[in-house]
Amino acid sequence: MHLHILVTLLLFGVISMTVTDIVLVQAYESHATEGAIANVRSYSSKIINKIAEAGAITTSSTNEILQELEDAALFYDGRIILVNSKLVIVADTYDSEVGKTLISEEAIRCLKGSANTYTSTSGVDIFTELTLPIADSTTKEVIGVFIIRASLADVFETKASLIQISGIILSFMFLILFALALIYSYRLTRPLKRVIETIDHVSEGYLEDKVSMKGYYEIVKISDSFNVMLDKINKLEESRQEFVSNVSHELKTPMTSMKVLADSLLQQENLPEELYREFLTDINDEIERENKIITDLLALVKLDKKSGEMHIAQVSINELLEITLHRLKPIAQKHNIEMIFESFRNVVAEVDEVKMSLALSNLIENAIKYNVEGGWVKVSLNSNHKYVFIRVSDSGIGIPEEEQEMIFERFYRVDKTRARATGGTGLGLAITKNVVLMHKGSIKVNSKENEGTTFTLRIPLSFSFTTRETV
Ligand code: ADP
Repeated sequence: MHLHILVTLLLFGVISMTVTDIVLVQAYESHATEGAIANVRSYSSKIINKIAEAGAITTSSTNEILQELEDAALFYDGRIILVNSKLVIVADTYDSEVGKTLISEEAIRCLKGSANTYTSTSGVDIFTELTLPIADSTTKEVIGVFIIRASLADVFETKASLIQISGIILSFMFLILFALALIYSYRLTRPLKRVIETIDHVSEGYLEDKVSMKGYYEIVKISDSFNVMLDKINKLEESRQEFVSNVSHELKTPMTSMKVLADSLLQQENLPEELYREFLTDINDEIERENKIITDLLALVKLDKKSGEMHIAQVSINELLEITLHRLKPIAQKHNIEMIFESFRNVVAEVDEVKMSLALSNLIENAIKYNVEGGWVKVSLNSNHKYVFIRVSDSGIGIPEEEQEMIFERFYRVDKTRARATGGTGLGLAITKNVVLMHKGSIKVNSKENEGTTFTLRIPLSFSFTTRETV
């Protein structure tokens, strides 16, 4: 990139400077040439007037102004020829052709009144040649031709030195441009290099590295975004570590209990059979608990594998809730809890049936588990043109306000001993929330201690609509 910026700036600078230089030199050339020609023409018209005043064009009549013509020819570093109406040369500053007849197309045309200008700028001959008619001042009849050739060498010499000087200036400017391009490209790429270095460092595992860059707005933005991303990675890493430690702890607890139970059985001899039975029943409970934690964990891990694995179908939410309630009825009956299902309409939504069933049964099961003897659980279903609304309310123990935010976190339990007694793993609501998010829905909790809890779910009716919005 450094080289790329450098070359681009240099190319741009060199091309624009060279083009400007060429344009300027060309402009000078045409301007100076035109000026020189105008000068010759103005001199010529003056001398032509003088000749015309004399009346006739003869060798003797022109002899008077010959000196003047010679001076002019010398001044213009050229030649002047005067031709009469018979095309006979009457005056020539080179003196060699006097008396001869001039056979030239321009001269013939000039006798008919048309002037001609010829300019040669190529090769060694750099000159302008004007062929002008001499008209009688009274009759206006063409009485001769005035031919003047003037050198334009001066113009081209100046042009050559101009090119030389501009060449020197261009080289000098090129050097300055090169230095500026070098500094500029370095300044532009240096912060990016630092970002790359930090990214490399972070990739090696140094997650606490941060970049702080000043200068261009975009560069500052890159460094800010990078730091935000780094913060997110750090938080993710933290929650991963916390999750691993929670998992280890949760899996270890039943193991420790089993070890204690097994040890006490082994240390004592000749124990009565009932005691063996009692201890083994406890060990069996712990195994079941361990099993439940692992099952929940696997369910959670599966859900984490992005929504690509969703098996979306048109599902009757009424039926789904009825089946779930029916399945959980025996547990509710055990605690004398009344189950109420209230449906305002038939709702069919695009959901993953297995995942949604898991999410809903977690909510209903909690409503039963954290309820009071003889309480109630009410599930209500409604919808509008866009969403399904499911409410699971209970008359249970409620959740303290300060804990309501945390209950969706993995392994979070309000009352650890009670949750343990009810067989809770602390993963149920985390699973439910994941399922809801995978359906692009939302979940809210409303609860008062010792009065009851209400969970409200809002799920979009159409899954494709939600994915189109987010993909
Ligand atoms: P658990 O397996 O412990 O039930 P959850 O993730 O399902 O785990 O719930 C987390 C905690 O939230 C529970 O331990 C419980 O303290 C509290 N909780 C969940 N639902 C209710 C409810 N309906 N009433 C009271 N407390 C609840």
